[in-house]
Amino acid sequence: MKQSTKTRPDLKKLEEGILGGDRVILGQAITLIESNLDADQTVASALLERILPSTGNSIRIGITGVPGVGKSTFIEAFGKYITGQNKTLAVLTIDPTSPITKGSILGDKTRMEVLSKDPMAFIRPTASSLAMGGVANKTREAMLLCEAAGFQVIIVETVGVGQSEISVKNMVDFFLLLVLAGAGDELQGMKKGILEIADAILVTKSDGDNIKPAREAQAMYQQSFHVFPEQRSGWRPVALTTSAQTGEGIEDVWKLIINFTQSGKQSGHFVQNRNQQTIAWFREHLKILLESDLQKFETVQQKRRNLEQALVSLSIPPQTAARQLLETYHQAVRDSAT
Ligand code: GDP
Repeated sequence: MKQSTKTRPDLKKLEEGILGGDRVILGQAITLIESNLDADQTVASALLERILPSTGNSIRIGITGVPGVGKSTFIEAFGKYITGQNKTLAVLTIDPTSPITKGSILGDKTRMEVLSKDPMAFIRPTASSLAMGGVANKTREAMLLCEAAGFQVIIVETVGVGQSEISVKNMVDFFLLLVLAGAGDELQGMKKGILEIADAILVTKSDGDNIKPAREAQAMYQQSFHVFPEQRSGWRPVALTTSAQTGEGIEDVWKLIINFTQSGKQSGHFVQNRNQQTIAWFREHLKILLESDLQKFETVQQKRRNLEQALVSLSIPPQTAARQLLETYHQAVRDSAT
């Protein structure tokens, strides 16, 4: 991996800045965790260790929906409502569809213009480099930094395409799916899986001529929840109509989330869910580290290539190939220790 000679922020300064709620330092720290340079990663890990005791005190909300459904307009209205309740808000946006420098679905600067000027809010797009365990790990870490900086509500936004919804679902307390009325095929295909993991569905743009179709869609979604298995927490998903233009439903969404967190804290499911997520994050990191360790040894890489050839010519079953690769890896580790 590349090494850099640039001066990086001092660990103690970063820690103090974050715990003191300094936005500039928070931004620098997020840049640091997003960096793939070894030296940056070392500082980032040390920083995360230090701030960990100050994390966990926010409500984490995930928001997804296809481009154009009204995510940023909703977050702007919802975010203003939240800061109007005297709560600080951090918004982290993930765009899995674009590399860092290219045009992105989420990343244009005009999004959430009002909220970005709100002193109670902090908005940050996550670089969508897929290196080192992907966007999700970086976003989780950014979320922890925001919590340590004192943000009370964190919204993680992602585009409703691809796998990113599952990653976001696995890092938040409450997962919101935004949908349009009359899109026709809402209940089919890929969306069905997302419907099943949503804690609430918001039918957006419920204003003007769209009120009636929005309410019909809401009723249909509400009805559809009956066919899904009950969530482990016992939570029954809710469908609401919202309009960022008229404000319809905005307060209801907030009340719903408060209700969800309060009942989850009483029943223990809130903590249980977070604990499960933490263990899952750990396992994911472990897999990434193991995979990158495998790649360090040329003998292992060579063996892997040979095994893959043998696999496709059906001269070895996958289980045997995996076991052989593991043995080669163990041998390489032993050899490197002597
Ligand atoms: P995103 O791609 O999901 O972030 O969607 P945007 O928030 O950029 O919204 C897409 C379009 O829908 C924009 O032209 C918005 O002005 C419009 N829009 C968003 N929310 C509403 C709403 O509540 N009512 C109406 N009528 N239009 C909306």
